[in-house]
Amino acid sequence: SEDRLLEYHITLFGKNERLLLIRDCTKMQRLERMRQDFVANVSHELRTPLTVLSGYLETFSDYAEELPTQWQRGLTLMSEQSARMEHLVSELLTLSRLETSDFKAQASPIDVAALLEKVRLDALALSDNQHKITLDIDQRLYIHGCLNELRSAFSNLVFNAVKYTPAGSTVELHWYQKHDGAYLEVKDNGPGIDSKHLGFLTQRFYRVDASRSSQTGGTGLGLAIVKHVMLRHQGRLDIRSDAQQGSCFSCYFPLTQVLERSEE
Ligand code: ADP
Repeated sequence: SEDRLLEYHITLFGKNERLLLIRDCTKMQRLERMRQDFVANVSHELRTPLTVLSGYLETFSDYAEELPTQWQRGLTLMSEQSARMEHLVSELLTLSRLETSDFKAQASPIDVAALLEKVRLDALALSDNQHKITLDIDQRLYIHGCLNELRSAFSNLVFNAVKYTPAGSTVELHWYQKHDGAYLEVKDNGPGIDSKHLGFLTQRFYRVDASRSSQTGGTGLGLAIVKHVMLRHQGRLDIRSDAQQGSCFSCYFPLTQVLERSEE
């Protein structure tokens, strides 16, 4: 019937033999959709109460000086935790949208150079100007893509480079074209990531050092978002890292997504 999802695998054996495997994935697909709906609904439901809580906490913070010291500490902790939860819910909603929304309806020509300039300024603000962020970009190289998604992906990579490297580190952004497509590289000279973690980094909630990530406000969803965004742009995310040279996150866009603005 039409609503069944079947996967076919054909394997060659010798000259004249073939093995045809047919797998019925309907149930798996249904379960996956239930999971997606569940996460989307829970995140939506959590957003409203969280907005009310953080709104009141902000108002109370204006009067914090009039409160006993013990309460002031409690208020600070509550504000920090509610900000963390808001961040988590917003990342879950972003992931849900990536799984369900129509890419074609949102895609348009994107001025990546301008976008990277904005992301760079936001990252410098995040680091309190403690990092050096250099740009080496092809101004004429545009992408056919979704602005919100790309902003979210690039911000995640550049903010990570700032969050996980000590003050004084350098972050390099390279945006260039090669024969097979366009590449954005986000390189840092920080502590790097042990190779045993590299294959897991884009899994949801995966964090190399959970205790350190909770200090930096991490959720473990950032790189999962980047991977999804890249897949929706027909591209991919590659990660290289070593302890001596830091990390390099590379976003590849195939030629089908590349637009080149003509000289004016
Ligand atoms: P988080 O919300 O924890 O930052 P991410 O999915 O963005 O989640 O990243 C997953 C983990 O990868 C982080 O917890 C961190 O340990 C590691 N990581 C990401 N970027 C870097 C980087 N530039 N340098 C070192 N470690 C990194």
